Amino acid sequence: MHSSAPIDQCLAVTRVTSATGRGAPSPYSEAVAGLQPASPDVRAPCDIALTRSEIERSAALRSDEEWLAAAWADRRSRVLVVERGQALARFGAGAAELIFVPPERAPDGVRFFLGVDSDDVAYFGVAGPLPLLPAEAEPEASGDTSNVRRAGLRDAGALLSDRDAGLLAHAVALANWHAVAGYCPRCGAPTESAQAGHSRCCAVDGSEHFPRCDPAVIMLVTDSSDRCLLARNAQWPAGRVSILAGFVEAGESAEQAVAREVFEEVGVVVASVSYAGSQPWPMPHSLMLGFRAEAASTEIQVDADEIAEAGWYSRDDLRDAILRGDLLMPPSLSISRWLIETWYGAALPTASATGLT
Ligand SMILES: [Zn+2]
Repeated sequence: MHSSAPIDQCLAVTRVTSATGRGAPSPYSEAVAGLQPASPDVRAPCDIALTRSEIERSAALRSDEEWLAAAWADRRSRVLVVERGQALARFGAGAAELIFVPPERAPDGVRFFLGVDSDDVAYFGVAGPLPLLPAEAEPEASGDTSNVRRAGLRDAGALLSDRDAGLLAHAVALANWHAVAGYCPRCGAPTESAQAGHSRCCAVDGSEHFPRCDPAVIMLVTDSSDRCLLARNAQWPAGRVSILAGFVEAGESAEQAVAREVFEEVGVVVASVSYAGSQPWPMPHSLMLGFRAEAASTEIQVDADEIAEAGWYSRDDLRDAILRGDLLMPPSLSISRWLIETWYGAALPTASATGLT
């Protein structure tokens, strides 16, 4: 697939006669919602934040120029404008929703097709300047606009609906990539967006280039007593801890990366590694691959350049430390928290819940 097809092949149009999966209910959203955990002690992968999109990506439509033009002309279509990883969102009590613009109000910029919902509404993204005011985005909306502001995945991801979180992750990932993929890595010539924004083609040598995605592993390591290894990164403030993580290196499997990173960062040898779930993390372009690993040794020798301190925690140790306010855990958006809670067996307590802080 990642071939050097000539430009005419790269841009070749594949006509589709039916939009697979359009109309309610979406087989896509049903399939995603029905994902089951691979092992009984792991929660369902669809519990992970940012992994529950309700939009069918409809990849076959990306090359249907006629359909795309009609969808862009349809005023029901919705456009998510993203700029530097952020979109406009309206914040309410414990929730947030994205603000879309109709196509005719979208700014100039790289346009990409995000998919179709179960009501047959098409969604696009545009990498361009955000609308200045909500009224500009939704002229018909007369609701309170005081809670509308720019937001990225970190601050809004856990508050958005499944549909909106998936759309924002998809749009931000594509926009981040287009921002750095303007020139051919082979010959340096400018590249052009193709496949409705899902690839770019070199106009000179015809090579086709796809969105970059850097795989990173993140692993919850347990010892023979089922204690969990938590560490504080050297850059983090006192008390903030998480599980270990690192990028997969060239020519390395994800499992090898888990074993290597754990040994490099804390000097612990792992005896087994098993996959648990993944999460898109387009900040700017990572894919987090979550693992459970069992340690063969427990002595810790931290790599002081990266890790300030690390230790083994039983569930009781962890609960008590959190309730005392001694530990600050990863945010609920993160796959690290999901992995920790999967091991812990429940949602982590919060210090404020005790009424002692
Ligand atoms: Zn080129």
